[in-house]
Amino acid sequence: MIIVIDGPAGSGKSSTARAVANRLSIEYLDSGALYRAVTLVYLEAGCEEEKFFSLLQKKDISFYYRDQLFHIAIDGSSVTDDIRTAAVAENVSEVAAMPDVRAFVNDLMRDVVKEGIYIAEGRDLGTAVFPDAELKFYMWADLDERAQRRFDERKDKNPDLTFEQVKESIAQRDQKDASREADPLKKADDAIEIDTTAMTFEQQVDEICWKVKQ
Ligand code: C5P
Repeated sequence: MIIVIDGPAGSGKSSTARAVANRLSIEYLDSGALYRAVTLVYLEAGCEEEKFFSLLQKKDISFYYRDQLFHIAIDGSSVTDDIRTAAVAENVSEVAAMPDVRAFVNDLMRDVVKEGIYIAEGRDLGTAVFPDAELKFYMWADLDERAQRRFDERKDKNPDLTFEQVKESIAQRDQKDASREADPLKKADDAIEIDTTAMTFEQQVDEICWKVKQ
């Protein structure tokens, strides 16, 4: 069984999906983290496409959810922190727009959800990856609100970061994610839409848990 949440950056889907997974004791899958890990391989290949794809074929990407954190490793070495750098954020949309990358990541995800009950979050899960998901949500919020959330999350780790930089980075990423040809960010027709702009975190979690239990 799979429940999916799609939506733009900073819409609250990651933290909400994790909290729902904990409350319902189910598995959590962060598809964005997989695209970010693949982007690390792209950076390692010096952003050269041919080199990148041959390197990617040789990499073993493993992941699991534990203690509120989606852990991810390449060839056995943790990249859980490395996938959150600015360099990754700047390149991930370009890498995720490559159809071969999408096929690679989709295979990883479809393989892992064969067993267990999952809540997965991303951009195209309800439309392209799991069109038959039991339950689909589309979460979004105003750009300023989303940028503020990301800024609050990141500012302690990066004191030089400004709100404007975060807002600009999110806006650019959304634009690229929604306009790409291969499986763009899009609400599935049968997804339940949740505007989280004025909602508290608890309200978001309650709403999804309530729908799941119905
Ligand atoms: O969710 P997160 O912000 O970590 O995702 C990083 C990037 O991965 C997105 O901006 C998007 O380019 C890509 N992505 C995607 N499809 C998904 C999940 C993420 O293209 N299902």
